[in-house]
Amino acid sequence: MLPIVAFVASAVLSAWWAQTAVTTVEPPAHACRGTRGAVRAPTSEEAQRLADQLDHWAPWVEQRLGLSFERSVDVWAVDKMPFDGRAAARLSGATLEDGTILLHRESLETEAVLVHELVHVITDAPWDSLPPLALEGWADALAAQAAPSPGWRRRHLALARFTPGVAIELACKPPTGHTAVATVLSGRSRTADVTALFDTPLDLFEGHRTGRRDDVLDYAVGMFVVERILARHGLARLRSACEDAPRQPVAGRVLLDLAGLTSEPSGWAADLRTTLGPDHLALLADDDMSGLATILDRIAEENGTTRADLLRPGQAFLRVADGAARLDLGAEPARSRLLAARGKP
Ligand SMILES: [Zn+2]
Repeated sequence: MLPIVAFVASAVLSAWWAQTAVTTVEPPAHACRGTRGAVRAPTSEEAQRLADQLDHWAPWVEQRLGLSFERSVDVWAVDKMPFDGRAAARLSGATLEDGTILLHRESLETEAVLVHELVHVITDAPWDSLPPLALEGWADALAAQAAPSPGWRRRHLALARFTPGVAIELACKPPTGHTAVATVLSGRSRTADVTALFDTPLDLFEGHRTGRRDDVLDYAVGMFVVERILARHGLARLRSACEDAPRQPVAGRVLLDLAGLTSEPSGWAADLRTTLGPDHLALLADDDMSGLATILDRIAEENGTTRADLLRPGQAFLRVADGAARLDLGAEPARSRLLAARGKP
């Protein structure tokens, strides 16, 4: 039985959440020891697979961080994360206070969660000068490099929802009418100053319990800022910013300056408009087919046509307002068929 005192860190691809940890977790049945640590998992195959993943990714994370971690890493893959409430279902990984990594069993599929949690375990000076939100962003940036997947683009869509001046539209040109445009996503910020997100001494879980924070959005902000710094200046510059602030958090203002971003979210709009591409629009379409079908039905009705007609190639487009990206909703037969059928008996 492993006593859980507190979290060090959290999850990736889903969210950390305001939770009180339960006090114990049963050790998974099967153990395996690799060169970098000891793992346990519900089946011997999963334990072997996890040990191989650990042996592969621990040196990779060490190399990126420029650190070496001398101790053995303990990783448990569990069927159910031992945290109360709704979040238990969403949490994909956590690092406990004693350095044990807990992964939801399903996280074995992506490897990104393991990489994210390894960053927490291996991180030491100078990286521990990153404020909590930037450390999460840094862990996610490395996890995205290790295991690229379309899901990471959801972070950009979360940012788009947060950034005033960014909008995604559905534009239709019915055969019989004028072009109709409807807003599908419109950025609205509840935060006037992003630096506060970095500078507030976060109690991530407490913040969630009181409902003051939005987990997906916060992770998106942290990751976007770190990725912009890496793209503009490279790893060495991020490292030297940490070295310039020994044993204290790097200021949010310094991080935003390095990222070339303003402290007001409205200043991010131009960056977001160029970041969002057709792949983001495809993800948005696939994530919210019902919402799009409703808008298409309204436009079809106003123009005396049908949703299926609007979904012929070259008729209905998702597009970034004042941006370059657009997606023809009728171009891919699989998507247009699903959209045409959505909500129909
Ligand atoms: Zn984390």
